[in-house]
Amino acid sequence: MVDDSRDRAQASAVPLGGAGALLTVAPTDPAWAALMRRVPKVELHVHVVGALRASTLGELAAEAGLRLPRPVDTLYRYSGFYDFIEVFRLAAQALRRPAHFERAVHEYVEDARRAGALAHVEFFFNPSYLYALGVPYRAQLEGLVAGVRAAERDFGVTALLIPSIDREFGDDVARRVVDEVLAARCDEVVGLGLDGPEDRGPPERFAEHFRRARAAGLRRTAHVCEDYAPTPAANYLACRDVLGCERFDHGYRILGDPTVVARARDDGAVFTGCPKPSTRERDAIRLGAIAGMRAAGLGVTLATDDPAMFDTDIAQAYERVFPQPDVDGLAQVCAAGVQACWLDDDRKARLRERVDEALAALRRPEP
Ligand SMILES: [Zn+2]
Repeated sequence: MVDDSRDRAQASAVPLGGAGALLTVAPTDPAWAALMRRVPKVELHVHVVGALRASTLGELAAEAGLRLPRPVDTLYRYSGFYDFIEVFRLAAQALRRPAHFERAVHEYVEDARRAGALAHVEFFFNPSYLYALGVPYRAQLEGLVAGVRAAERDFGVTALLIPSIDREFGDDVARRVVDEVLAARCDEVVGLGLDGPEDRGPPERFAEHFRRARAAGLRRTAHVCEDYAPTPAANYLACRDVLGCERFDHGYRILGDPTVVARARDDGAVFTGCPKPSTRERDAIRLGAIAGMRAAGLGVTLATDDPAMFDTDIAQAYERVFPQPDVDGLAQVCAAGVQACWLDDDRKARLRERVDEALAALRRPEP
């Protein structure tokens, strides 16, 4: 999820402070990358809108009578941040019917499985994007659930859904999101998320909504301490204690406060690190932060955030963090993903077996 508040950050990449060193993208060892690509992967941070293929967006936009700013083959090449926001908003308005959501989920799973052996994914979606167009939550849900089921049937990839509150839309809309989610419970909707501009207010603002979600048995996560705005590391503590979050999206800025880092390490917290940010200017900050978090002993799993729109995929996410052979590091990241995913115990155990088997094969010497 993105917002124009990120633009302010691009102009002056916000330093993380403390252990947030800079790290450039290193060349990848091709043989290692090929081996790593085959390891089954868990992805816990991908937004349905940001995962939409450009070609699909082109078709859906035409169907909805929305004008593209340029041809489909260059649609995701942005001239600047506001250009990116325009395309993102367009995509958010183009998914309108259940079949559109089904297609978006199905196509992403197909792409990510092919690119990097995706085995399990948890998708964010923002019901509020379509409130102004009168598209009901149930219609969005119907399509997303159909997509999840079709993806498992066709590709053997499990998926879960996390409706997300966008901080931008304010309290009434947040309440409506939770009302609708709780009124239409289904097995595929497993938790509640929080995204949007983090500098518009502290996590405590959303305490009531998260309390209701928790009381209804939903899991909780939140985008927190991202690197585009100077938000305090203590937001991690608020998400943990006030919102009851069980895992955390991004989290880079906690490196600015060693006390908070130590608390998160003691908590065994898992963060969904996304190695490819929306613009290249933040590459070095992002990669440095993920390395710093791992070096500090924090649990980090890797994800793509808005993969199609950021021109990346799940295999590249791993290559950015592990350009050279590092089976132990890879095993840590894989274990964090399995641990933090919200599958039921049986499915989680099967997933862990698959991942462990693949990692064991990587450790075996070549015959
Ligand atoms: Zn995100």
